[in-house]
Amino acid sequence: MIIDSHSHIGTRIGSHQTGAELADRMDAAGVDLACIFPHVEAGFSNDEVDVAMTERPDRFIPFMALNPWVGRSAVEELHRRADRGYRGIKLHPTIHGYNLGDLALLAPILDAARERALIVIAHGASDVLNAPPAFAKIARAYPEVPLLMAHSGVFQMHEEAIEAAREHPSLYLECARVPAYEISVQIRELGPEKVVWGSDSPFCDYTWEYQKVSRTVDSEEARLLVCGGNLARLLGL
Ligand SMILES: [Zn+2]
Repeated sequence: MIIDSHSHIGTRIGSHQTGAELADRMDAAGVDLACIFPHVEAGFSNDEVDVAMTERPDRFIPFMALNPWVGRSAVEELHRRADRGYRGIKLHPTIHGYNLGDLALLAPILDAARERALIVIAHGASDVLNAPPAFAKIARAYPEVPLLMAHSGVFQMHEEAIEAAREHPSLYLECARVPAYEISVQIRELGPEKVVWGSDSPFCDYTWEYQKVSRTVDSEEARLLVCGGNLARLLGL
């Protein structure tokens, strides 16, 4: 089963993707399932995920975006969505303006994520607000919560990302928009069990983004882990 861990649904200025459009892209690429969450810029709504779920409920795994600065209502939103079958959380420290290592700010969300057995995927492109040490800090404090580092700390902190993933069993490197060479390095260093494919659609050529990873992984067994098996295990599918 091929699963995309990272796709955006709905509309924001300059970007748009419906559930039907994403499902068509998945069909063309040969992808079975996708984890979907909204674009995360100001005014985002997880209701866009609900709309996409009504379009193709057989193809999507609903994730919610949360902004920790809205405090109590972010936790209420988490429980409301988890009650309706949402399986994960998208965090974007750079867009929402906080440091991913700020555990005092994130504790209410992470406590609830642990309680509701949710996966967390956070933007992790080595920006100053989401560098690998911040991921390590979360993984240390919340080892029960599977944590995906979107974009694998590329480029400036790729080495540190690999080190953090090696050290923390719950931390995985997600390779959307990561070049093929860096993906091959992280698979060689960590094994395919620690690398998870995501597309970051609609910000990509969907088929290209999938083929990039499937062609980089050298064995069929490893390809199936990176492109879906690891995530299926984390989600209990
Ligand atoms: Zn994204």
